[in-house]
Amino acid sequence: MKSVLSWALRSALLALLLVHLQPVDSIAEKTINIGTGSITGVYYNTGSAVAKMFNQKRQEYGAWMLNRPSAGSLENINEVLGGQNQFGISQANFLFNAWNGMGLWENSPKKTLRAVLGLYTEDLTLIAADDAEINTAIDLKGKRLNIGEPGSSDHETSGEILAVLGIDPAKDLQLSEEPTYIASEKIQSDDIDAYFYTVGHPNLSVIEAISGERKVHIVPFEPDFIDKLAALRPYLLADQIDVTFYEKLESKAPVPTIGIKSVLFTREDVGEETVYRVVKSIMENLDLFRRQHPAFSSLTKENMSHGVIIPLHPGAERYFREAGIAY
Ligand code: GLU
Repeated sequence: MKSVLSWALRSALLALLLVHLQPVDSIAEKTINIGTGSITGVYYNTGSAVAKMFNQKRQEYGAWMLNRPSAGSLENINEVLGGQNQFGISQANFLFNAWNGMGLWENSPKKTLRAVLGLYTEDLTLIAADDAEINTAIDLKGKRLNIGEPGSSDHETSGEILAVLGIDPAKDLQLSEEPTYIASEKIQSDDIDAYFYTVGHPNLSVIEAISGERKVHIVPFEPDFIDKLAALRPYLLADQIDVTFYEKLESKAPVPTIGIKSVLFTREDVGEETVYRVVKSIMENLDLFRRQHPAFSSLTKENMSHGVIIPLHPGAERYFREAGIAY
């Protein structure tokens, strides 16, 4: 009995000692998940790039970052709030609505969400088959349009865009509600005429969609539509899709559309040290980070510390303060 007690006592003392030996700022989470998107989008590449930067020091940190594919912004917000993931990537509009209790979060503001870093601009992209003769968004009337699977960010965004265009999905369209990563197949198998995707460029979805027999193009939006949307919210901006990476596209002219910032975010109770290390590992390797995807080429310390829509996590603030980066 005595020896069991002394064993228990010694173990307890050892545990206490170990706790005290841990540096006060050690990373609490050992496996850190980042929720991203489908593997044909750019969020997935972004999650890989963030994990690559962080994992360079995985031994020192005693922590790993794992990229987890998902259905995009909405699922990422839900999984960060639900505790399955510590980090996620989202379009600024969804974070804005979640924080402010608007749209899908009407009367249920999510005040525990925190921003980490601003990322690249995503573009509202309408991909259409040439034979369907969709030269402007309003030509979608009567056509077979994929709007994403119900409950996904793409579905939500498509609904909002169609409302601004004055197109009634039930009456004016032949709707398809497949996940967007399948839409690039469906356009080639002639099951749909067009699909919406809000995404950075270049991406594998467009590459797949334009690489088959059926000729496909990216539809430019009218200036009126762009102005109308840009006037709605400060985070919606007129933008142009650079299509020079898409070898198989006939026209290489930039495509006018609306752009929105993507944001790396977390939750209030994720450790300050964890968030600090994530930000530091990206900021101190920014040249290498930018080389991970062409969509990252215009990222700077300045644009990554601004326009993040919701309050910054203290770990990100600490890094910006120490590095002398205005935020
Ligand atoms: N913007 C899309 C979304 O919020 C994701 C795009 C991507 O995966 O790159 O779901």
